[in-house]
Amino acid sequence: MADKVIPLADHRYASSVPLVPAQSTAPTGLLADTLGRPLRDLRISVTDRCNFRCSYCMPKEVFDKHYEFLPHSSLLSFEEIARLARQFVAHGVRKIRLTGGEPLLRKNLERLVEMLAALRTAGDGLPLDLTLTTNGSVLARKAQALKDAGLQRITVSLDALDDAVFRRMNDADFPVADVLAGIEAAQRVGLGPIKINMVVKRGTNDDQIVAMARHFRHSGAVLRFIEYMDVGATNGWRMDEVLPSAEVVARIAAEFPLQPLGAQQPGETAQRWRYADGAGEIGVISSVTQAFCHDCNRARLSTEGKLYLCLFAHRGHDLRALLREGRSDAEIAAAIGGVWNRRADRYSELRSEAGADPSSAPAGRRVEMHYIGG
Ligand code: SAM
Ligand code: SF4
Ligand code: SF4
Repeated sequence: MADKVIPLADHRYASSVPLVPAQSTAPTGLLADTLGRPLRDLRISVTDRCNFRCSYCMPKEVFDKHYEFLPHSSLLSFEEIARLARQFVAHGVRKIRLTGGEPLLRKNLERLVEMLAALRTAGDGLPLDLTLTTNGSVLARKAQALKDAGLQRITVSLDALDDAVFRRMNDADFPVADVLAGIEAAQRVGLGPIKINMVVKRGTNDDQIVAMARHFRHSGAVLRFIEYMDVGATNGWRMDEVLPSAEVVARIAAEFPLQPLGAQQPGETAQRWRYADGAGEIGVISSVTQAFCHDCNRARLSTEGKLYLCLFAHRGHDLRALLREGRSDAEIAAAIGGVWNRRADRYSELRSEAGADPSSAPAGRRVEMHYIGG
């Protein structure tokens, strides 16, 4: 069980770096960080709230009724998000993922989707992929509106098929049938190909791996197994609860033979496998046992407008301050460029290099996942 270690007022959330643009004239353009990695993928957290209490993300003992979520005035408005997103696209971002917290809890999210979909013509003519990650709880009634607003794809998190195990994982007594209905609705309206994310915790839901594989074979959806990660400071992470992806693949292959597939594009987090009988593919995301920092091209924009360069970062860069003190687009673009150019983050690799036991991770308080988005 996670200890209640986080002071509620200043959290969570580590500190932020004051961000004064070095110059106002820096052009937008393709960026490379200190390790030569481009900026391609932007994840935007639209709310820090959630109706689930997954123990690996927002354990109930910490995120209880006394927990102070961000006030509405702290959140970036849709206009502010869209304005920042435009600068990121000009800097080479090709994929925007809305996340949270539970993004579908943010009121009128379709309006933001529409504003971001309009950015497809703002970059250098290359396609912009717009997607969203959700726990699926209200997806059945939102799928059509999201599709109509211009959302292309969707990822639904689903940690079990068995109702009792699922309720235990979400710790909010939420029934699995409603999420399955959400997945069907998303498929029906054409929000695909759908990805299904399953976080595997050894001893809690690993008995669901093969049942999940069986269920989503032939469905057109791509099931991805995620190693339970040591994100944030509240989930009481332990290495012995991580089931290595290699074991996930072995368990599935024993039932349904698998063949490896190559990566589709650089920076891809999942290693892909196809069923030998043509029933579709699965992916494994091995953030703990096989670090993939070397081509990590992802930035994260927190609910209150801080730019984080790594899922395990301690500090964010305050873009909201720039917006609200009236800085120009050129100044904001220069600030984003400067921050990315100085980026050297590679937490998972450092954790692996620190020793055979990944629990010997680089120390320090890390930002919570529901705040910067998964
Ligand atoms: N609420 C939405 C959802 O659950 O899909 C979006 C936000 S959630 C933080 C994004 C993703 O992060 C989910 O797929 C979730 O399973 C994953 N996640 C959260 N905590 C994690 C952890 N400790 N290890 C691995 N994945 C985690
Ligand atoms: Fe909520 Fe998603 Fe975190 Fe679960 S993983 S608590 S659904 S934000
Ligand atoms: Fe990217 Fe940080 Fe994850 Fe490495 S640890 S892959 S740098 S987010």
